[in-house]
Amino acid sequence: MADGPMVVLSDESQRTSGEDARSMNLEAGRAVAETIRTTLGPRGMDKMLVDQGGNVVVTNDGVTLLEEMDVDHPAADMIIDVATTQEAEVGDGTTSAVILAGALLSNAEDLLEQDIHPTSIVAGYRHAAEAVLDVFEDMATEVDPDDEEILKQVAGTAMTGKGAEAEKELLSSMVVSAVQAAVRDDGTVDQDAVVVRQFYGASIDDSEFVDGVLFDIEPVSQNMAREHEDANVLIYEGAIEVSETNVGAEATVGNMDELQGFVEREQSELADMVDRIAATGADIVLADGGIDEYAAERLAKEGITAYRRVDDDKRERLAQATGATRVGDLETVSEDDLGFAGTVSERVIRDLTVRRQADHESTTVFSDLPTEGVGTIVLRGGTEHVLDEVERAVVDSIGVVSAAIEDGSVLPGGGAPEIEAALALREEADSVEGREQLAVEAFAEAFEDGPRTLAENAGHDAIDALVDMTARHDGGDVNVGIDADTGELVEMFEDGVVEPLRVKTTAVDSAVDAATMIIRIDDVISAGDLSVGDDEEEAGGGGPPGGAGGMGGMGGGMGGMM
Ligand code: ADP
Ligand code: MG
Repeated sequence: MADGPMVVLSDESQRTSGEDARSMNLEAGRAVAETIRTTLGPRGMDKMLVDQGGNVVVTNDGVTLLEEMDVDHPAADMIIDVATTQEAEVGDGTTSAVILAGALLSNAEDLLEQDIHPTSIVAGYRHAAEAVLDVFEDMATEVDPDDEEILKQVAGTAMTGKGAEAEKELLSSMVVSAVQAAVRDDGTVDQDAVVVRQFYGASIDDSEFVDGVLFDIEPVSQNMAREHEDANVLIYEGAIEVSETNVGAEATVGNMDELQGFVEREQSELADMVDRIAATGADIVLADGGIDEYAAERLAKEGITAYRRVDDDKRERLAQATGATRVGDLETVSEDDLGFAGTVSERVIRDLTVRRQADHESTTVFSDLPTEGVGTIVLRGGTEHVLDEVERAVVDSIGVVSAAIEDGSVLPGGGAPEIEAALALREEADSVEGREQLAVEAFAEAFEDGPRTLAENAGHDAIDALVDMTARHDGGDVNVGIDADTGELVEMFEDGVVEPLRVKTTAVDSAVDAATMIIRIDDVISAGDLSVGDDEEEAGGGGPPGGAGGMGGMGGGMGGMM
């Protein structure tokens, strides 16, 4: 990969001005785009990243790549921000957005060489961006939030090219069920309600959507039931223990009578607590604090399964899911405070994320819950790397399905919107005066970089693909894109390659913002002290005091992935 355009500046000066500054920034930004270019599309390749500690990440995901790369150049960082924004707004389309930004920079370089002023370029790009958003709106197809078929296509499109692809069908329908369940009354999707858990072992096709919540908690006693039907759930914000002050015990060790009295008082206090709990009809108790052994055995005898030291967020999630009130005081607890779970069961599956801290072998599943919209996507997979990459794909997929439901609009994929935009912009350019016109044309060309890269990565002739696609679009076939597998031009909705409108609009917005910001800069003044320090190669460099530390290192910083 990127052996050409990477920048290594051993610049001794603090300040880079005018053309030098600009070309340095443009190059750096382009270099970033160039790095991830080969990952675009269903036939894109993966990259392996190794950090200084030897940790390995294998991914095809644009934003993951960029975040893992140790890039150290301010302009390159701006391009990485494009990916981060894209990830935050939609969760997918990061590579496409960065490729667009890179192409905008690259074409700006050509214009600058022709002595077009940066201000004209910026104005032209802004003009073009606005026009393009209209084009996308016009192209967009409405989506019904209940239309599972198209939502599954949206989900699947975001997964293609990633480790998840082999089980695209299964994972897509899981994602759609999970997201649909999390649609709130105002039409927005509560993505936090869609929980993804990974369990090491088995294979991806053993993944499932569990209609409930999973917690890595285990009953305090071996004598407690692991399974319950129609369970009443009590969530207690305290401990089922007796603090010494409660009993008023000052037992002197050695005095058997006093000690006996102390133990009896303590036990009766605990028995009291257990009785109050049992009187509510609870089958399950989750406590914030500890649970005394004696109390635990009494609870077990009552047929109650109890869990101790359950995290606050678990108690909160379960309270919401089961409809339980979080009870602070057992003296006033009543049946009304209980929540409900149709099934409570235990599964022996091992959680990777938890395993790194402690070895949790089993998980308790609360399902058949009264509250709608509670679900967990359970991913299975043979290795950690596979699971991580599948999870990234699934998370992207959750993002796009959410965006499609919230906005109710989708676009065809496979380069169709880009070609349509390029055509529209060329036409638009005719109505633009002066040098801005060239910038609008340059923007049109930048759009073609996406489909070109898709075709290239899939091993097809990029020029042919572009020419043919442009001709088809010119003839009115708005939804025609490239089928990455066959290289044929096909109707993308028929091919099931569909993306939410937001993927494309956000990409345009953030790519244009970053590109124009970089183009405008004509002076880079770096305060070396601010940015040296966390970078080893700088430390050994022995540059002048206050030298341009922050500007160096881009090439070196990415060394881990070559
Ligand atoms: P990004 O990070 O931009 O999402 P991807 O590697 O996921 O990058 O590639 C996204 C591009 O691949 C989009 O243009 C999308 O329309 C296209 N794409 C996805 N699936 C297919 C397919 N089966 N055929 C053609 N293009 C596809
Ligand atoms: Mg994608």
